[in-house]
Amino acid sequence: MFVTGKRDYYEVLGVERNASEGDIKKAFWDLARKWHPDVNPDDPSAEARFKEINEAYQVLSDPEARSTYDMYGHDSGVAGGGWASDFGGFDSFGSIFDAFFGGSPFTRGAASSAGPVRGHDLRASVEITLEEAAAGVKKEITVDRMEMCERCSGEGTEPGTARTTCSECAGRGQVHSVSRTVFGSFTTVTTCPKCRGEGTIIDSPCSDCGGGGRIRKRGRIEVDLPAGIDTGSRVRIRGEGDAGLRGGLPGDVYVYIEVKPHPVFKRDGIDLRVEVPVSFTQLALGAQITVPTIDGSEIGVSIPSGTQTGEEFRQRGKGMPTLRGLARGDMIVAVRVVTPKKLSKEEKALLEQLAEIQGDDFADASKKQSKWRGLFDRWQKA
Ligand SMILES: [Zn+2]
Ligand SMILES: [Zn+2]
Repeated sequence: MFVTGKRDYYEVLGVERNASEGDIKKAFWDLARKWHPDVNPDDPSAEARFKEINEAYQVLSDPEARSTYDMYGHDSGVAGGGWASDFGGFDSFGSIFDAFFGGSPFTRGAASSAGPVRGHDLRASVEITLEEAAAGVKKEITVDRMEMCERCSGEGTEPGTARTTCSECAGRGQVHSVSRTVFGSFTTVTTCPKCRGEGTIIDSPCSDCGGGGRIRKRGRIEVDLPAGIDTGSRVRIRGEGDAGLRGGLPGDVYVYIEVKPHPVFKRDGIDLRVEVPVSFTQLALGAQITVPTIDGSEIGVSIPSGTQTGEEFRQRGKGMPTLRGLARGDMIVAVRVVTPKKLSKEEKALLEQLAEIQGDDFADASKKQSKWRGLFDRWQKA
């Protein structure tokens, strides 16, 4: 059974019919990188395209299959045969990718290093103030990362020199060996040990990177932290991690946020708590107090007369913003009586007068508290 309606393999790879092996390989690499499903998670057609590219490459990169294809086209059967178009055995596109760039699926699991490798993700942490968390802030962070070598543009070769074709595998990246058994002879294909599947060798490595194509550097990255961010939040900066290898994508940087404790405000999710010291007279008579807000302004809070210490006054919308910025939490203002440590003569006289009016007996304070004492005793016995 021959599949009809297939695109011409040369057309798929965008190369001339007389293209060299190198041209075909290069076209394949460029296209495979572009259409790899991992790179196009939102494009469902990428998978089909990637398979088509692979199939075309498997045929055109094999001189024997290529000449058969040249003579008979798709009707030759080269397309449907072999493992090139069978993806069933692979658990992910990553492994398909590895297998094809590494040489063949038979070497899967072996250390094949010929394909593009995505750079590592890196981790960084940044400490911000609660004010910064409330308003959002831009921070500059530094990361030690592998960056592309500028001297060789990541090629690994000394400028002016080029990679040369591997003599061991003649540039194919694979070596074949035939083993004969009672069931017949089997051809085993393995990654070329000399070039590790790359098909080429660096004769003059770049003097800066030693042929690796990357150099460890300290990179500065600006990170935009949105308002409402909290300790434990993680911000991902795409493409700022280690540079990839052999054209692989760079990794990402994950920035972990730590919000420093605030001397005045305590954060409780999107709410803020603030404790305001007040005097007994302010609570007894009622007062208008001024409370700072996290954005640096102030609000007035009315304390009604007869307020008890510890009572809370919720200020709607004066807390932290939510991460999407759609809402704001509240600020909870708790009042707490502060007993004066020093009294002026006048204050003392007035307080004594007040105590007298209230009937406080300082000689025997327990008398007045007898009803509390009773409760206390019962609780102790329980
Ligand atoms: Zn270099
Ligand atoms: Zn080789």
